[in-house]
Amino acid sequence: MARYRGSSCRLCRREGGKLFLKGARCETDKCAQARRSYAPGQHGQRRSKLSNYGMQLREKQKVKRIYGVLERQFRLYFQRAEKTKGVTGEVLLQTLERRLDNVIFRLCLAASRNEARQIVRHGHITIGGKKVDIPSYIISEGQEISIKGKDKFIKALREKMEVTKERGVPKWLQMDFQNLKGLIVSLPKRADVGFPIKEQMIVELYSK
Ligand code: SF4
Repeated sequence: MARYRGSSCRLCRREGGKLFLKGARCETDKCAQARRSYAPGQHGQRRSKLSNYGMQLREKQKVKRIYGVLERQFRLYFQRAEKTKGVTGEVLLQTLERRLDNVIFRLCLAASRNEARQIVRHGHITIGGKKVDIPSYIISEGQEISIKGKDKFIKALREKMEVTKERGVPKWLQMDFQNLKGLIVSLPKRADVGFPIKEQMIVELYSK
């Protein structure tokens, strides 16, 4: 039991919201966030003071953990965001939201982004009729996403969706749960990210 209330749940507790890092467990009343009013562990109720650098680092690690991105790719996203005309931090978050694994999670087709990555890697996703099995694929406006698989997979997916669709699909996406088809209505805006992220801290960290 204690294993489940490890660092992932601690992150949810610290941020004061459900980040869905533990798959199916996050959808049940076993979710540590739903059960406890303070951070798990012996020192859960203790507040620690972090330096500015520590806070910047923590913010970056948090975003990397939420989206399941490693340092190399994260830095690449940042460098690309820096070259665009928009606000760097916002573009960075929008890029992460546009990753295919995140889109599958947002369409309520998976209980976590980890699970969404598995679905993509196993070749269950087509975009505009073509198979895409790269979780880091960046989606574009107007694209149509379909799910394919054997009857057993589709049956299990439909059962899972009965729970996951309670989360709701964000406005920039559309999901036809009956026909298992998703649509990218528009590109995500900063407000669509939904987590309390201080992206400016990440920009400051990389600008040192
Ligand atoms: Fe843990 Fe709940 Fe967060 Fe999932 S949503 S990682 S179960 S605290």
